Amino acid sequence: MIDLRSDTVTTPSDEMRRAARDAEVGDDVYGEDPSVNELERRAAEIVGTEAALYVPTGTMGNQIVARVHAERGQEVLVERESHIYKWELGGLSQHAQLQVRTLDGGDRGVPTPAQIRAEHVEEDLHRPGTGLLTLENTHNAKGGVAIAPERIDAAAEAARDLDVPVHLDGARLFNAATHHDVPAERFVESVDSVMFCLSKGLGAPVGSMLAGDEKFIERARRTRKLLGGGMRQAGLIAAPGVAALANRDRLSADHENARELAAGLDAVPGLAASEPETNIVLVDTSGAGLSAEEFLDAAERRDVLGTAFGEHTVRFCTHLDVAREDVEAAVRRIRDELR
Ligand SMILES: *Cc1c(COP(=O)(O)O)cnc(C)c1O
Repeated sequence: MIDLRSDTVTTPSDEMRRAARDAEVGDDVYGEDPSVNELERRAAEIVGTEAALYVPTGTMGNQIVARVHAERGQEVLVERESHIYKWELGGLSQHAQLQVRTLDGGDRGVPTPAQIRAEHVEEDLHRPGTGLLTLENTHNAKGGVAIAPERIDAAAEAARDLDVPVHLDGARLFNAATHHDVPAERFVESVDSVMFCLSKGLGAPVGSMLAGDEKFIERARRTRKLLGGGMRQAGLIAAPGVAALANRDRLSADHENARELAAGLDAVPGLAASEPETNIVLVDTSGAGLSAEEFLDAAERRDVLGTAFGEHTVRFCTHLDVAREDVEAAVRRIRDELR
């Protein structure tokens, strides 16, 4: 099976399993798990913030952020295809009790300063005020596009001028950094908090990180506890996370594989795939007269898996457990099956 559904399907390497087995642990709710503490220290160092917090999932990380930054009843500005809005069960309204205002970030999924100023709501007797802006990089729904640091800066500056805090959903932050060939911290300079996933392209079995200044992380730690995310001997899952951080350097291999996959599929009659920037490939199946589901059924008959991302759009994701030969085989098998 060539599993290209998501970069979350990677299984932990031998090195990660060893790290889990040998991890020094303690009770992390007491702040006494050395492996968690090491992971949090390393993560903060890598993204250039004062502190970081280990969270079980990226979704919990994003939801914690909304509670910490914004007050009940305020509005949050989100891109209309963003994960925090679309794929987290409406958690912004359920957990933080925020009202969502969506912005169309265009083909790169990032709102302009003018849009942010236009949609910002000033608090008064009738209006709740804007309490948060969220950005996403890379942008999943837009095909893993890597937004340039200058565009993050511009959006964040517009928000800051309005006294609105900014959160960056950087589930795939290091893919963006790899594409632009800049250190990840460059994307974090102008925002108040960032979340990134260890369990995606970096290959850890569990977990994501939240990072920001000490005051933010202190409040985030309390909110994590509130949501039931205070974990005990979590070093067992945090230690593989430390090992995963070393995989930042190999993401370019996933990006090359994605380009190869896109070029191969684009050459198949009836399929269209534009050149990806990172590890996500979107394929338009309409030219083949197939819906995304029909196309995926055909691919699965040849042991290739992807995800439907729209009526005629399929997403394939390259990752740690996909080699160049797998990509070539996937293209060959899909070409043969559609013939
Ligand atoms: C995967 C993802 C998340 C959530 O991470 P989980 O660990 O699956 O909860 C958040 N934002 C984006 C952009 C993602 O791709």
